[in-house]
Amino acid sequence: MKVTADLLLLPQWVVPVESDGTLADHAVVVRDGCILDVLPADAAQARYDATQTLALPGQALIPGLINLHTHAAMSLFRGFADDLPLMAWLNDRIWPAEKKHSSEAFVRDGTLLAAAEMLAGGITCCNDMYFFPQAAGEAFLQAGMRATLGMIVLEFPSAYASDADDYLAKGLALRDELKDEPLLTFAFAPHAPYTISDTTFGRITTLAEQLGLPIHTHIHETVDEIRDSLKQYGVRPLERLARLGLLGPNFIGVHAVHVNEAEIGLLAQHGCHVAHCPTSGLKLASGIAPVADLLHAGVNLGFGTDSAASNNRLDLFAEMRLAALLAKGSSGDAAILPAAAALKAATLGAARALNLDGRIGSIVPGKRADLVAVDLHALSSQPVFDPVSHLVYVAGREDVTHVWVDGKLKLNDRCLVNLEPDDLTARATYWRNKLTA
Ligand SMILES: [Zn+2]
Repeated sequence: MKVTADLLLLPQWVVPVESDGTLADHAVVVRDGCILDVLPADAAQARYDATQTLALPGQALIPGLINLHTHAAMSLFRGFADDLPLMAWLNDRIWPAEKKHSSEAFVRDGTLLAAAEMLAGGITCCNDMYFFPQAAGEAFLQAGMRATLGMIVLEFPSAYASDADDYLAKGLALRDELKDEPLLTFAFAPHAPYTISDTTFGRITTLAEQLGLPIHTHIHETVDEIRDSLKQYGVRPLERLARLGLLGPNFIGVHAVHVNEAEIGLLAQHGCHVAHCPTSGLKLASGIAPVADLLHAGVNLGFGTDSAASNNRLDLFAEMRLAALLAKGSSGDAAILPAAAALKAATLGAARALNLDGRIGSIVPGKRADLVAVDLHALSSQPVFDPVSHLVYVAGREDVTHVWVDGKLKLNDRCLVNLEPDDLTARATYWRNKLTA
């Protein structure tokens, strides 16, 4: 008797990521949102009776990509402030606009727009940091996208919270409320060393340890940040965080552009993770993270888009390719960050950073079915010697045809399933008009 299943996918190639290489003519079987089996296509059709069978000829099935650092709601600031360095961009443009406009409605609409863009581009999970995470959570749930919600903390007041204690209290209350949502997880998200006091970092360290949650923070993004830290604290930011006990396997440092050998050693020794955001680092002229040195030291790496205000795409195919090229070009080593390693960073590496690698990040039985089909049919993809090479060096997000999150179809033949593009465009236009009024 055949075993029942919900979905039988028959792509030309399965790229499990967990193990290197590619499985040709294999099937992925999904039941109850979970990957039930990965086996040769013939054997799968003999063994399983699936409600739906989908042939994906010429396509590669990969684990959903994970955006390890974003501010989803800021998609409403896409193109709002270009061609400025970080502090001018923040002080003169972004922070004043946020002060005036950030609200639950802004965050809900912006996060929905970002979720639509990410899902259509093969991103099934993101690590988000923004005000009103409650509204972001509602949007991710509406979109059916997996997310780690950042419990954002700053010392200064915003429309969302009055001081660090208030930010923390609001974040923790939200986590209590939503911690049983299967698609949502939580991380502490102190914004950056230059916006967080020692006292607050201390509290977050204790809470993160007690609750077993990641800490997600911007770190060593610019030369100015390091200079200011030396002036104010007498040490560079990472040294300060190390002294405060913040560094550990639950620490996700975003950017890590300006890190010296000792600091790379600190990150490696403490088992920290780095969210490498190559486009954002280039666009804000912050610099290029020393990825080759981080990898040689054994630091786990994932990729982030950062926000659509500093990128301006939430496109992990673009980040994978750029990360691989920059790592080679800046180190003089063409062998560093090969395609398989770049794909692994964008999936399993990011999952490990979020402490979600037991659930997502690769195509193996027992994990949740976050899956993406990428079309390698196009003439621009011919011929295909190695699908993994093509996924990083050739394919783009426009080649994503189908996306499942937790076994549920989110993109069907390049069409979003439960989000309405016209409605999202109307909301984005409404906010553009408000921002320019
Ligand atoms: Zn950021």
